[in-house]
Amino acid sequence: MSDLLIENISQIVSGDIEQPLVEGDTVLIREGRMAAIGARDDISAGDVEHVIDANGCMLWPGLIDSHVHPVVGDFTPRQQAMNFIESCLHGGVTQMISAGEVHIPGRPKDASGLKALAILTAKTFENARPGGVKVMGGGLLLHPDLTEGDFEEMAYAGVKHLGEIGLGPVHDWKLAATMTGWAHNNHMKVMMHIGGASIPGSDVVGADAAITVQPDVASHLNGGPTAAPLADIERIILETNAALEVIQCGNVPALRDIVILIKKHKALDRLIIGTDMPSGTGVIPLGILRTMSWVSALGDVPPEQAVAMATGNTARVYDLPAGRIAPGLEADLVLVDTPVGSQAKDALETLRIGDTPAVAAVLIDGVVKVNISRNTPPPQRRPSIPWLAAGGH
Ligand SMILES: [Zn+2]
Repeated sequence: MSDLLIENISQIVSGDIEQPLVEGDTVLIREGRMAAIGARDDISAGDVEHVIDANGCMLWPGLIDSHVHPVVGDFTPRQQAMNFIESCLHGGVTQMISAGEVHIPGRPKDASGLKALAILTAKTFENARPGGVKVMGGGLLLHPDLTEGDFEEMAYAGVKHLGEIGLGPVHDWKLAATMTGWAHNNHMKVMMHIGGASIPGSDVVGADAAITVQPDVASHLNGGPTAAPLADIERIILETNAALEVIQCGNVPALRDIVILIKKHKALDRLIIGTDMPSGTGVIPLGILRTMSWVSALGDVPPEQAVAMATGNTARVYDLPAGRIAPGLEADLVLVDTPVGSQAKDALETLRIGDTPAVAAVLIDGVVKVNISRNTPPPQRRPSIPWLAAGGH
């Protein structure tokens, strides 16, 4: 991994919701991590090998999709689509969290099979990153026969979290709460399906269930795809400490009402953004960008805070060494701009008015993975990446 300087950035958006805008026009990357951020004249780049001229594009952290349903590799049997993860990379996504590998053909229904599936998918995505995207696979689906020893074994094997409680065969919320305790004892995070049943065999889950279980993430509050009553959402905000997720494949007016409610309760630092795809709704490579613009435009949230909800807020929930533009963190970054023809003057205003921003470049661990997205509309400003223009790298 070579050293890299990105200069002539119009605005650095940090991904930190407490301080979302950072001074400076330059970021220095060494060995795949950010080494310095600030004004060009204040950064001693030395003999840096590669320079990207951002040419006035903004720099955001790489987007983290907090809710996907992959299986193994870059294929989804639910929509018989190939390379959907790589397609999301072109929507600015550099990391994804599995909410459970529910679509795998012949999905096991017993404890040993679900345990094996979680270990397998955690390991396969650890070993192979589709398009370079970091996928946290192994979203364990609960089974009543799992023991605390199973959780220890899975954690040792690399399973870091539970997929949505409510999708598996555990329907006893007290038991789910006990297993959530076992997960936490083994440093695993826990997500919980909220709202209507998503697929045959899954549950309708309301506030009482979430308050009993106390998950780390209350998934898709605006429905996956059917939204729960707003009164239930308010109880989840007030009576749990869970991250509050809104998604693309849900109810749009409910998303607006929920974001406004979360803002009223001063809990925007708990709001995270996912897609809940692939699903029956489809494969939506621009789903995170579109949901960010819904949150900002419909929920009246400053767009730089909407960026944090798709980056730093999620990284905090899962203890990821990415998701913010700060020294020492992994250099997963997106150069963005307002698209050609948009009434917005820059990428943040693009979110504010409900348009979809243009992705000009995507970097993962400091390596350029996308140079002009094939999926977003084209940016008004184009970064100069000379070694790629020359056909190198
Ligand atoms: Zn769900």
